[in-house]
Amino acid sequence: MKLHFLGTGVGIPQAGRVQSGLLVEPDYSRHFLFDCGAGVLQRLFESGHSPLDIDAIVISHLHLDHVADVLPLLKSRWLCGKTTCRIIGPEGTQEWFDKMFDVYPYLQGHFDLAITEINPDIELDLGWNCKLSCAPGIHSIPSLGYRLEGEGNSLVYSADTEPCESIMELTREADVLVHECSFPLNFEVTNHTTPDMLAPFLKNIDVEKLYLTHLYPHMQGHEEEALEFLRKEFTGEVEIATDLLEIEI
Ligand SMILES: [Zn+2]
Ligand SMILES: [Zn+2]
Repeated sequence: MKLHFLGTGVGIPQAGRVQSGLLVEPDYSRHFLFDCGAGVLQRLFESGHSPLDIDAIVISHLHLDHVADVLPLLKSRWLCGKTTCRIIGPEGTQEWFDKMFDVYPYLQGHFDLAITEINPDIELDLGWNCKLSCAPGIHSIPSLGYRLEGEGNSLVYSADTEPCESIMELTREADVLVHECSFPLNFEVTNHTTPDMLAPFLKNIDVEKLYLTHLYPHMQGHEEEALEFLRKEFTGEVEIATDLLEIEI
């Protein structure tokens, strides 16, 4: 399984980090895009992929920094001759698309989207021996963390959340956890994560690698401090993701 971190930033612009996007290739031929915030379409191109490569877009929640480039991605596929796309997202995803197409009548009738609203009671078979399940995070609007099981390996993506038991339960014995870490050590915040908030939740999970993503500009200059802190608390590897970082699991 290959991971391409396309966007590791947030709603506030900063050098080197566009908004949220994580491209996963479970078997090096299929491509699932987890979230598609502003800048992710450009990063997809920069990572060596075509918009036509995406087999499914998986949306964690409907905040702009996670969906702003969804319509531009679909439009770019249309311009390249492909109008179908599988979309998976939380409750409200269908309504969001309906409203978006109301705003842009010139897009209406040009797409054949297969939209599935997922919930924690559902395990979706994505085909190609891949299964997708989810768990609710703690965020300002409903947000889902996802687990993708491929052939012999697995990934969990927390999306936007405070550290919480439901996401950690989803994470058990996964190979990689991609968890948000919006703010630095001891920053007072709710609905997002800081290293000290995350540490207690890492004690009982059996994960080899932790990648931190969704960094606010507030994290600039505090990256090493975050890594040093978490490396004392967590037995696996911890890294901070950067845009266009590729890893194999
Ligand atoms: Zn959010
Ligand atoms: Zn976000």
